[in-house]
Amino acid sequence: MALRLKIWGCRGSVPAPGPQTVTHGGNTSCVEVMLGDEEALVLDAGTGIRALGVDLLRRGTRRIHLFLTHLHLDHVEGLRFFAPIWDEGVTLEVWGPRSPVLGLRERILRAFSPPLFPLDFRDVPARVVFHDLPAGPWQADGISLFSDLVLHPGPTLGFRLETGSSTLAYLPDHEPALTGIAGRSTDWISGGALAAGADLLLHDAQFLDEEYDAKIGWGHSSVDDAVAFSRAVDARRLVLFHHEPDRSDQALESLEDRARELTGDDRLPPMLAREGMVVELN
Ligand SMILES: [Zn+2]
Ligand SMILES: [Zn+2]
Repeated sequence: MALRLKIWGCRGSVPAPGPQTVTHGGNTSCVEVMLGDEEALVLDAGTGIRALGVDLLRRGTRRIHLFLTHLHLDHVEGLRFFAPIWDEGVTLEVWGPRSPVLGLRERILRAFSPPLFPLDFRDVPARVVFHDLPAGPWQADGISLFSDLVLHPGPTLGFRLETGSSTLAYLPDHEPALTGIAGRSTDWISGGALAAGADLLLHDAQFLDEEYDAKIGWGHSSVDDAVAFSRAVDARRLVLFHHEPDRSDQALESLEDRARELTGDDRLPPMLAREGMVVELN
């Protein structure tokens, strides 16, 4: 079965609209994995989810499965402005990382209260159900989704989606270099099992190598480490994701050149994630 995805936001940390980011987009993380019109599968609720929400209502989608890698603001910022939650005919299932301190529902509800937001979660008309992850694989419409904790500040998940014929790995916020990448078996690399042999790997590449030294431990990868990770897990194609907000379209293209140089000729060339990009895996 083919797996189709559409990127609705791929900027890291904070939205970055403006003339410098028109090509690759300024909205934060949100990826749709296309199911039929009845149901939708969405990865992260960054500001990209706002436009997706409008589109889902237009398509008549009534059941939405939202998987959150973690609760940093750039991954949940769009949820309050996701039109389907303001429609009483919609059911939204929200899956996200468990915390030892508070349930997923309680942590998300903080964003639906003053002074952060004028309305209370009780005012949300859609039926919203919360589920903690990791749990066993989730399955629908021929897709199995696996989750596991990865290296990033606070409980953070990566996702692996399999259809039987193709595999997608989604690790937008990830710093595997903290515990090591090269020369280790995938079991000993953060996110290694999630991304092993993936046909498409969407991976954090927020920094250039020369920027990374000052940002070690912030939870993100240099482009060099993203390429090293992709090689170590033997992913077929790397998509560079979670773009630094200050990086212009032009600067992103040189980051892509750097990734291609590092990758060499024996693999498919890495490419930059771009808002509006649709990828189909057979
Ligand atoms: Zn992020
Ligand atoms: Zn984060």
